[in-house]
Amino acid sequence: MQRRAEQGWVEVIAGPMFSGKSEELIRRVTRYGIARIPVQTFKPAIDTRYSATEVVSHSNLSAAATAVADSAELLRSVEDRTVVVGIDEGQFFDEGLVEVVELLAGAGKQLIIAGLDLDYLGRPFEPIPALMLRAEYVMKTLAVCHRCGGPGLFTQRVIAGDDLVVLGATDAYEARCRRCYDPTEIEQPKLTAVDQ
Ligand code: ADP
Ligand code: MG
Ligand code: ZN
Repeated sequence: MQRRAEQGWVEVIAGPMFSGKSEELIRRVTRYGIARIPVQTFKPAIDTRYSATEVVSHSNLSAAATAVADSAELLRSVEDRTVVVGIDEGQFFDEGLVEVVELLAGAGKQLIIAGLDLDYLGRPFEPIPALMLRAEYVMKTLAVCHRCGGPGLFTQRVIAGDDLVVLGATDAYEARCRRCYDPTEIEQPKLTAVDQ
């Protein structure tokens, strides 16, 4: 019997902000790196908040990454020898990401995609839901509800308007549980000290 040399698959890590998606992605790609399995990690060029050459978690873990403009550039950037392809902030990619991921998995690559499954209004945040349906493995991560400590599965926007970005993206959102999440509630901006 002939064994197939390489078997591709797709894994999606999905959940709200602060739920540990990037941590989990970083943990996995780092382990493959230690095992000397060729890994490439990508992120959308739109997300260069912390670093243009790394994926960074809110807990300050990091892994080397390449910023790409869209799914077509991602596909062009994957090298033949690469076995594992990590993608962070998958929700910021175009819908072509689904086809690109399937193409790469079909070619024997192992894909790990992290991203938000819902936007701050509680709507499906494509292309993550479409990817979840076509993945062999799905990991749903939960945060701790900022209000009550319960299971945070929603991302709540707490600051209205774009003019307050000076406070930093992290301060504009909170993880909330089912009971505490209310997309119609926008609090007045907190005028306390800026911490990052
Ligand atoms: P994500 O990529 O899902 O936004 P990260 O992996 O970047 O999340 O960050 C997860 C880390 O964020 C946690 O380990 C913790 O240190 C921190 N954190 C901040 N707020 C919360 C919260 N409400 N619930 C859980 N972790 C939080
Ligand atoms: Mg993240
Ligand atoms: Zn709560």
